[in-house]
Amino acid sequence: MKYVVLNYDKLIEHGFEKAIFIDNLAEKIINAYNIQIPIIDMKEVIKSIGGRIMYKNNYYELINGNIIKTHDRKFDILLPILNKNSNNNFTIAYNLGHIFLHMGYRTDFLLWNKIIIDKQYKFISSKQEKQSEYFALSLLMSKNIFLKIFCKYSDDNTVDMTEVANYFNVSISQSRRRASFFRINKRKYKMSVLKKCPFCGNRAIIFPRDLIKEKNIINEMEESFNNVFYSIECEHCGASIVSISLKKVIDKWNRRI
Ligand SMILES: [Zn+2]
Repeated sequence: MKYVVLNYDKLIEHGFEKAIFIDNLAEKIINAYNIQIPIIDMKEVIKSIGGRIMYKNNYYELINGNIIKTHDRKFDILLPILNKNSNNNFTIAYNLGHIFLHMGYRTDFLLWNKIIIDKQYKFISSKQEKQSEYFALSLLMSKNIFLKIFCKYSDDNTVDMTEVANYFNVSISQSRRRASFFRINKRKYKMSVLKKCPFCGNRAIIFPRDLIKEKNIINEMEESFNNVFYSIECEHCGASIVSISLKKVIDKWNRRI
């Protein structure tokens, strides 16, 4: 199994467009390992991916780092047993982010080969931390499902983030961060900016789709930097439009094209 990682460092900084790369990687991992969203227990996911969680009593055992490539060319994640976050899905997913993104496990054969067996690794640059945080949010709140659930708990003016967070088994602040990642937090794009369907007057929903999977929209694909486009669809009659940008697709829908 091999994923494609291109110019990773250049692609990921703070911006949404760039972070889409991590999102797509998380999506591929979800599909490759048949991970069920919402994830109830990240420890089970780690098992299915080939790793182990090892709990340590003593913080000193973790000083040199908490991720190890093991002799069977898999990995251990070491976590402090006394820390309340150690069983947290986010903490585990965050560490998994380092393993895929910064150690090359199943993503970058050359990088993974350079990782020394039995050595404890830690990743302390803020860039790497941010990337792994993005990864954790992307894995726990897979984009298509997240937007569906976000819409489900939204009415014209508000969204119930408690329900969204409960669904995905994450904290409210984590689900907020995921929403802001899609720029669908209320400050930038109120859900109310989406007008009712021009044909039947029912509610429309917005969600991202993967262009690679839907080759019929070939012209949009050429324009698209990251192979993601947005679709707005009427829930009732199926009227729909697409665009490569969230802003464009909302403008288009509201202009009744
Ligand atoms: Zn309609």
